[in-house]
Amino acid sequence: MNEINKEEFKKDIENYAKVLFRKSIKEASDQEKFQAVSYAVKDIVVDQWMATHKTYEEQDVKTVYYLSMEFLTGRALGNIIINLKGNKAIKEAVEELGMNLDVIEDQEPDAALGNGGLGRLAACFLDSLSTLGYPAYGCGIRYKYGMFKQVIENGYQIEKPDDWLKNGNPFEIKRPEYAVEVKFGGYVAMRKDEFGRDKFVQENYQSVLAVPYDLPVVGYNNNVVNTLRIWDAEAIDTFNLDSFDKGDYQKAVEQQNLARTICEVLYPNDNHMAGKELRLKQQYFFVSASVQRAVAKYMEKHDDIRKIYEKVCFQLNDTHPTVTVSEFMRILVDDYGLEWDEAWSITNKTCAYTNHTIMSEALEKWPLELFSRLLPRIYQITEEINRRFILQIQAAYPGDNSKVEKMAIIYDGQVKMAHLAIAASFSVNGVAKLHTEILKNQELKDFYQMMPEKFNNKTNGITQRRFLLHGNPLLADWVTKKIGDDWITNLAHINELGIYADDELSRKEFMNIKYQNKVRLAKYIKEHNGVEVNPRSIFDVQVKRLHEYKRQLLNILHIMYLYNELKKNPEMDFYPRTFIFGAKASAGYHRAKSIIKLINSVGDVINNDKDIHDKIKVVFIENYRVSNAEIIFAAADVSEQISTASKEASGTGNMKFMLNGALTLGTMDGANVEIVDEVGKENAFIFGLSSDEVIAYEQNGQYNPRDIYNIDSDIRAVMTQLVDGTYASGNLDEFRDIYNSLLDGNGGRPDMYFILKDFRSYADAQKRVEAAYRDEEGWAKSALLNVSKSGKFTSDRTIEEYAKEIWHLEKVTVEVPEDDE
Ligand SMILES: *Cc1c(COP(=O)(O)O)cnc(C)c1O
Repeated sequence: MNEINKEEFKKDIENYAKVLFRKSIKEASDQEKFQAVSYAVKDIVVDQWMATHKTYEEQDVKTVYYLSMEFLTGRALGNIIINLKGNKAIKEAVEELGMNLDVIEDQEPDAALGNGGLGRLAACFLDSLSTLGYPAYGCGIRYKYGMFKQVIENGYQIEKPDDWLKNGNPFEIKRPEYAVEVKFGGYVAMRKDEFGRDKFVQENYQSVLAVPYDLPVVGYNNNVVNTLRIWDAEAIDTFNLDSFDKGDYQKAVEQQNLARTICEVLYPNDNHMAGKELRLKQQYFFVSASVQRAVAKYMEKHDDIRKIYEKVCFQLNDTHPTVTVSEFMRILVDDYGLEWDEAWSITNKTCAYTNHTIMSEALEKWPLELFSRLLPRIYQITEEINRRFILQIQAAYPGDNSKVEKMAIIYDGQVKMAHLAIAASFSVNGVAKLHTEILKNQELKDFYQMMPEKFNNKTNGITQRRFLLHGNPLLADWVTKKIGDDWITNLAHINELGIYADDELSRKEFMNIKYQNKVRLAKYIKEHNGVEVNPRSIFDVQVKRLHEYKRQLLNILHIMYLYNELKKNPEMDFYPRTFIFGAKASAGYHRAKSIIKLINSVGDVINNDKDIHDKIKVVFIENYRVSNAEIIFAAADVSEQISTASKEASGTGNMKFMLNGALTLGTMDGANVEIVDEVGKENAFIFGLSSDEVIAYEQNGQYNPRDIYNIDSDIRAVMTQLVDGTYASGNLDEFRDIYNSLLDGNGGRPDMYFILKDFRSYADAQKRVEAAYRDEEGWAKSALLNVSKSGKFTSDRTIEEYAKEIWHLEKVTVEVPEDDE
């Protein structure tokens, strides 16, 4: 790679401050400095970006289009600097200009174009695709407002708009030359084409112009820069209306409103379908634009649309982009005039689907009325796909109508997006071993029996470049000192650290780094929460979206129990513990918001109780997101991964903690199972019902939480404190819904997530955590072994599997021509 010339780079920064802001670096604000540095970095990136795409064109590479409603990329600048390997030169340049790189990085708003794990996975995948040299586009939406900013007021979550583009985004490039039209509504008419053949045309529709913005995805030290293409909607110039509609003022205004609303905001639901019309518009909007553009790009260099699958693969990140299937069929049949069977066979070789959840409330089902009104031609095509698929089901299971009922794409007035995705894809993958087994044997059993060859597993991963190299520089440097820097692109080699687990000095160094990272987090907490925490205490961390299945409630009920124990016996042997939470709740998810309030209320009482001598602290970190996540993982001792077994498809937070030397306290769920396989049961704390046990209880209805409530007086005491005002300043109703959800169900099954059932087992596991932590040497050894066994969980491994087994991509090497001056 071409070296970064420090002196030239400094001049570049100064020049940007001048042309952008008419200021010298000294006069510029921190935000302006960030902009100037970012533009200077972009100059370096753009040369590699152009060279990459030139290489792709010359070699006529196969490309994966990763279609995702969410890309939770976080901040770009620091990550790009790291991947350019320009850290040292850039840091020096910045410092010689009198600036501090950390302060500059802190000026950048997170690109929070995602909710949680699914969006972050997409971002990790892009990092790995570029680093491995695989040709790829990420395709998504340029939401004007990303994930809301969470503010805690009086313990309650308040949502504030995330105006992340207000200062502009220095890394994006608008590409108006690739804009395409996307049509909604109207009706489908049969017309004659120029050769007198019948064709279907959508008429009297409303449309918007989809305009792409490209963001660079920089590979690590390899000149490869892929593109994250996010689409914005603009009003179609009314001049372009059908002649029929010219001068239709009403329609022009409606189209402007449509364009304004489509990309306005990310829906803040994680693992939950809200069923809003605008959401379906968003889905079709970005899918239609991405697929139209992918087809057009292919046809610029090729003449046979029938072979597009040799150069293009569409990977559907969950069911959100499933209309890809029908949109691609529409283009093949309506625009290219292919016969149905041929179009279907091409679609089947081009689309692949990743399943992310088995929870019924997350499955996307659109009412027929809405789907057909909004997407009339897409609906017709989906109906025909369904008609033929039902014939296929009936051929496979003659006379068994229950199979049609269970597997049809359209049934009971709904379009079932997962069924459409499975029917049309050549690959259906789960995201962890256990999850894929549950898909095959339970949730998607009928599909698996009919087409077993489609099903495969791709266990999720995370990028070590962001979550160790960038997020934990002290540990990253130490690892490099011990084993060299090969782990940065080949995480399997981190197993070489294993030998240091038995070395006393190495353990000391390692624990000292953990301590310094805890001091860094303690400082962040002091600044943001005003709470003093002891970096010598155990940092016990649960950060992830707030959801009942993730069981933050189990964690906080256990804290209430511990506090009761301490109050009963203030002199009891108790190792000081800091419980750290971070979680956003979907704005309309009342019970989740109530759990946030409970955590904060319990914290208020415990943190201010002098009787317990600071032995427990409870901290809720506001606005959990990628940028503060990096600081939190680095400082964690205990990783809380306590979902109800079978509910967490994979989890990726669990992997980030492991990579940073935290020990997992968790259920046998999602990728926890594989984490324990790698590191050994003796280096983790496993508790609770198994997924088989949970599924059995769900099917036989034999669990009654009252039985536990009646028998266990400690649990009863904690339950009573939810409704006696202990934590609610005397308000007896504040947590009544939580109480009822556990004992009566409040509409659903009582204690649906088996919190009381798993409580004792969890409390025992927590006792084992404390005992283990008291053995400093033993803990250090376990923590180091966790780091050394984390090699499997790099997204580089995951992407190699997708590339070889699903996408069939070839790696590319890129040379950047030297500037000759
Ligand atoms: C990794 C990550 C997640 C996913 O965490 P899980 O524990 O797997 O649910 C969510 N949000 C952010 C900001 C992350 O970095």
